[in-house]
Amino acid sequence: MRGCRPRELGSTPNPGLMKIQSTMTGNKENFLAIHNNRINLFVCGPTVYDDSHIGHARTYIAFDVVARYLKYKGFSVFYLQNITDVDDKIIQRAAETNTSPRSLARKFEQRYLEDMQALGVTNVNYYARASEHIPEIIDQIVRLIELGFAYETETGVYFDESRFEDFGKLSHQSAEDLEKHRIEPDPSKRNPGDFSLWKKRQDGEQVTWDSPWGKGRPGWHIEDTAITETYFGAQYDIHGGAMDLIFPHHEAEIAQMEATSGKKPLVRYWMHTGFLNVMGEKMSKSLGNFTTIRDMLQRCDADSFRFFVLSSHYRSPIDFSLEAIEQSCSGLERIRQLVKIIDAQLETPGDSLESDEIDANVIEARAKFIEHMDNDFNTTYALRTVFELVRDVNRRINEKTISRRALNDVKELLREFGEILGVSFSVTEKGPTGTAEDQTGNLIELFIEIRQKLREKKDWQLADEIRNRLNELNVVLEDEKAGKGKYSIKKSCGVSK
Ligand code: AMP
Repeated sequence: MRGCRPRELGSTPNPGLMKIQSTMTGNKENFLAIHNNRINLFVCGPTVYDDSHIGHARTYIAFDVVARYLKYKGFSVFYLQNITDVDDKIIQRAAETNTSPRSLARKFEQRYLEDMQALGVTNVNYYARASEHIPEIIDQIVRLIELGFAYETETGVYFDESRFEDFGKLSHQSAEDLEKHRIEPDPSKRNPGDFSLWKKRQDGEQVTWDSPWGKGRPGWHIEDTAITETYFGAQYDIHGGAMDLIFPHHEAEIAQMEATSGKKPLVRYWMHTGFLNVMGEKMSKSLGNFTTIRDMLQRCDADSFRFFVLSSHYRSPIDFSLEAIEQSCSGLERIRQLVKIIDAQLETPGDSLESDEIDANVIEARAKFIEHMDNDFNTTYALRTVFELVRDVNRRINEKTISRRALNDVKELLREFGEILGVSFSVTEKGPTGTAEDQTGNLIELFIEIRQKLREKKDWQLADEIRNRLNELNVVLEDEKAGKGKYSIKKSCGVSK
């Protein structure tokens, strides 16, 4: 992160003071990294069979801020995400759309990465495709069989849940609770709850690899432990995902890796995000109540969406509506307004006091912000601190009781907070936004005309590129059946309905 470490604005962040609520214990635990200053963070990545929706975005924005804050605290963070590019849903969608599972997965992986970039989710160090870790997956299954935790049948290889006595410890479920989840009926399995490690090839299936058990493909859970073992070893610091993954996915990961390595715990801190809901129901593809990230970013800019997401604590559910985003945007706009006022004040000598003293309110605001973020990444309270600062500075500007030094420091502090949250509090950092000036409007019209000529010549690639590049500049083109189409400019803050 560019210049995110604090300068001399007061207390220095102390890595020793953080608390993280771990799903395993249900308590806020003092954070202690396994390797002093280095943190290994793994978050379950997407299954790439379709465009991601803003529920996914909620989870990935939350962990982007976790990575940003850990870096701010002085840790060196290795943030790893898997890409599930081998899966029933991918195979099914590819068959429906008459394409190959591989090209479908690559297409949606690329679109996912573009979405993350557009959302400012930029802290993942490595995306590991499941399909590129088949030898590691097979190796882990072989060890599980050798150790007596897994067995082969005519349909595949399964993990024998009854052999792992800690099964249920993450989701806090007893053996009777687990009984209720006995899905995957397969008469070849020893216990109904045994989960798949390797699926043997069915008739006509094309996505297969050779293995000691014949042609087939991996089960979902084993991907993640094979990938994390490859890059982190048998134990690491933080594992994240949304709450729906606690059971059975994360429970299965614990069973696989702790059984293979004999080392406990697999992970020191299990972090789970709450859902982004629509009218009380989880946003999901299967319910059809979703808005893709792409659609959302046509209506509101990434900063506004991030600000909306971060106004809630990562473990709390979020109720999504355009009105709710609009409301949270007025808060963002208040902060940006202050930055504009400060800039204007700093350009006018004599409007503020001369003083070299560090402002006590600036020191206090930073200390409170850090305290809230140290407390299980409480962005809701951290933002409250920002609003208190904004109120206080506005008042002092009106009363002419604030020094130039303090104004400079407040501006610097807001930039620092903005970088931790991945939200720009200064509109000018973002390039052209707001209403179009006449000249800008003329230039946009010129681009639209050139694009229209390209479309007439069927140069779709260049025409699309112009549309995408204009979109990056917040200019949204809408094609019409006849004519060159029209455009709108995304607001720098807020939603276009
Ligand atoms: P998937 O591609 O469905 O495996 O989801 C990728 C990640 O997004 C996982 O961590 C999911 O738990 C998470 N996720 C899916 N839907 C939502 C939602 N509505 N709110 C928050 N996170 C979600």
